[in-house]
Amino acid sequence: MSDTGEFCPRCGDPVLHREEPLPGTPRDRERLLCDACYFEDFDLVDAPERIEVDVCSQCGAVHQGNRWVDIGARDYTDVAIEEVSAALGVHLDAEDVSWAVDPEQVDQNTIRMHCQFSGLVRGTYLEEEVVVPVLISRGTCRRCGRIAGGYYAGEVQVRATGRTPTAEEIDRAEEIARELVADHEADGDRDAFVTDIDETPEGPTIKLSTNSLASTVADRITREFGGTVEDHPTLVTEDEDGNEVYRVTFAVRLPKFVPGDVIDPEDGDGPVLVRSAKGNLKGVRLTSGEPYEAAYEDGATPDARKLGTREDAVETTVVTVEDDHAVQVLDPETYEAKTVARPDFFDPDAETVPALKSRTGLHLLPPVNRTKNTRR
Ligand SMILES: [Zn+2]
Ligand SMILES: [Zn+2]
Repeated sequence: MSDTGEFCPRCGDPVLHREEPLPGTPRDRERLLCDACYFEDFDLVDAPERIEVDVCSQCGAVHQGNRWVDIGARDYTDVAIEEVSAALGVHLDAEDVSWAVDPEQVDQNTIRMHCQFSGLVRGTYLEEEVVVPVLISRGTCRRCGRIAGGYYAGEVQVRATGRTPTAEEIDRAEEIARELVADHEADGDRDAFVTDIDETPEGPTIKLSTNSLASTVADRITREFGGTVEDHPTLVTEDEDGNEVYRVTFAVRLPKFVPGDVIDPEDGDGPVLVRSAKGNLKGVRLTSGEPYEAAYEDGATPDARKLGTREDAVETTVVTVEDDHAVQVLDPETYEAKTVARPDFFDPDAETVPALKSRTGLHLLPPVNRTKNTRR
């Protein structure tokens, strides 16, 4: 009955038919077996006894390969399915393989994976189910361990010249640090983090995981608010792997004056409302409405006296417009009519106008809603 004239090397039965291997393919011993012997110890699926998935109990990251990966809001079941799928092997002789994985949550840390496989082997349809338990083991990832340990390599000290930073400057500085870290995280950089923000009476000190982050944060703060940065290497320490870490302090000095301050440069041309402290201090003269810019050598901090801020101004009634250079308003304290200089930002149709009374006298300010467009 043998059409091949060959016999099974294990049981000696004649082998009825056999697909000839492609030319050049070695005839392995398994291939020579009769179907009965071949299927006797055939496994369609090769599965591990169990799979462990390490997750960080702090941030939810998953350890994959040799690194930690943020999985966002995804369920660990998805991760378990991925890990099991990657670990399962289907016999190379199987054709038309189809499979399905059905997760069963056993408890918080165990997912039992029911994996159904089917395929054709030697023309025979086979089905096989394997069950692989996936154990979620909760630990601490490197980043969370470092944050918990207070690790940092760069710090940004946000301070201001002759004053404390404003609430806006403090909030923005911290926001800049968090935004930058978020950008790095979005790019998959897990080594970028804010370790700590220490709110000192002189201003916040922001500790960051790397020197370059701290350097970028300091630059962005001064780009937004003006001022200067000095960097001071502080000390060399070791990280948990024994690598030397060179710590650098970036000392940010915000300018003495901020937009909205009213200052007197004491140059005889009257007070100035500060518009910008980036580069050279810029503003507008309250007597004329003309632009003011500090001399290059004075930079962001000209020798000037602060008279108040635009928040100190009060809405004052306009009595009459005298001429191109003078307008009469009510003194906000005494309610007497007073003649003051008429700047070109003054709107002759306005019934009230913000005015600031200071040691240099009473001055009109540009209306708040036109702050950015008062130059004509
Ligand atoms: Zn046999
Ligand atoms: Zn973590």
